[in-house]
Amino acid sequence: MNAQPKPQNVPDLPHLIAGKEVSGTSGRWSDVYNPATGAVSARVPLASKAEVESAIAAAEAAFPAWAATTPLNRARVMFRFKALLEANADLIARTISAEHGKVLSDARGELTRGLEVVEFACGIPHLLKGEKSINVGRDVDSWSEKAPLGVVAGITPFNFPAMVPMWMFPIAIACGNTFILKPSERDPSAPNLLASLLKEAGLPDGVFNVVHGDKEAVDTLLDDPRVQAVSFVGSTPIAEYLYERGARSGKRVQALGGAKNHLVALPDADVDQVAEALLGAAYGSAGERCMAISVAACVGDELADRLVATLAPKVRALRIGHGAENNPDMGPLVTRAHLDRVRGYVDLGIEEGAELVVDGRGHRVEAHPEGFYLGGCLFDRVTPDMRIYREEIFGPVLCIVRVPDLAAATALIDAHEYGNGCALFTRDGGAAREFAHRVQCGMVGINVPIPVPMAFHSFGGWKRSLFGPLHMHGPDGVRFYTRMKTITARWPEEVRAEFVMPTMG
Ligand code: NAD
Repeated sequence: MNAQPKPQNVPDLPHLIAGKEVSGTSGRWSDVYNPATGAVSARVPLASKAEVESAIAAAEAAFPAWAATTPLNRARVMFRFKALLEANADLIARTISAEHGKVLSDARGELTRGLEVVEFACGIPHLLKGEKSINVGRDVDSWSEKAPLGVVAGITPFNFPAMVPMWMFPIAIACGNTFILKPSERDPSAPNLLASLLKEAGLPDGVFNVVHGDKEAVDTLLDDPRVQAVSFVGSTPIAEYLYERGARSGKRVQALGGAKNHLVALPDADVDQVAEALLGAAYGSAGERCMAISVAACVGDELADRLVATLAPKVRALRIGHGAENNPDMGPLVTRAHLDRVRGYVDLGIEEGAELVVDGRGHRVEAHPEGFYLGGCLFDRVTPDMRIYREEIFGPVLCIVRVPDLAAATALIDAHEYGNGCALFTRDGGAAREFAHRVQCGMVGINVPIPVPMAFHSFGGWKRSLFGPLHMHGPDGVRFYTRMKTITARWPEEVRAEFVMPTMG
């Protein structure tokens, strides 16, 4: 939170409630930075309880009419929204890059992955079809329907300011719910842009609202009985807190948390392929992806030596710079505080006895000396007791752990508190099949370093990477944002009292 006087020429961002831009009235603000230059680019309001309650009231008021709108007409809004996303792709990507720091082409990729969920939601008339049985008893029919929940909320992290909200709201809205998004306060402009495009697509006012804020806004959403369900993506401590607090007030909650994703390389894997895969998966988006690979588990010293020799020069040669200039490989970290935290982990790794093969701490971008840049860092001989192995660093730092065989690599993954994603690189189909079925992880890649499920499948980890039974988007998304009603009907000539447990047949 910012107690400093407001810098000159820095705009104040609005909330978007009931289809209108609403100025923050709490008196609390947070600075938004351009991480590539280090400059403050805007101020975001941190909503008070009363401001969040006004958004909940708007969403509640919009719910009956929206729920009564036919799925076909709700889908038509999604089709128009999809067209607007495509028409404004460049603006959205620039908006993401300017506050997150990621490279423009990467921001475009983020938008595409979000847009694919909108495309999935365009099929909502089909997805909401129920099940029907004729004659479950003599002249008795039974069917199930999927009903919307009411007002639902999404709380999202900084690292995908457009995609992660789009994991949630297209499906929630298409199912007939109304939605309140509380996006990350670090990159709030992309969500505002999405809200304005939804309005342009013809979404009625109040169906989608954006409230900016911090813990106060989140706690209000968690405690208010009018909010039926909360979707969360962010770090594990907050995910766990949210899951408990939301459940205590009787809500449905899905809370996705942190990760430490391992790529296991077997000796038969092509070292060049593994090195290229690791380079993109560990350092793309400066490692600020929940599906980034942050551990390479190498089977055998011979492979590990060859991999380090192949990978290290590539890490040193990473082109790092302003995400919107000259298409670098990697941009800055999101804030100075996060940069300091990640650098702190590199210092810690050295203290813990890991071998720092590539040290990115001294990296400077001449044109932008105040930007939040860190060069790629590569540790070898990391061991499972080290904090740099156990904890999520969320930066461009890759840890190599040497293991004797595949069983040891799998045991390593299984013992880790997180179970988001993992990958195996090999040419051995039998080993791959065994690994995929046994490993304790929600998303598994075979020769695919970042196995993010497509929009029509569901995304989610295991263990402390996800609290709640249902994953994000795809079929689980429809399940999360609807509740089942099963109706049993007959049209009898007469009804007689039955004193035994009714049975059909
Ligand atoms: P974060 O947990 O700091 O913030 C996420 C959201 O929670 C934000 O909207 C923030 O305002 C809110 N929040 C923060 N502190 C809060 C508190 N004390 N009480 C209530 N709300 C609070 O996460 P982040 O730094 O924005 O994002 C990075 C994290 O998100 C990483 O841990 C990453 O692994 C995780 N992530 C996970 C997935 C996944 O699919 N599992 C996807 C993307 C990011």
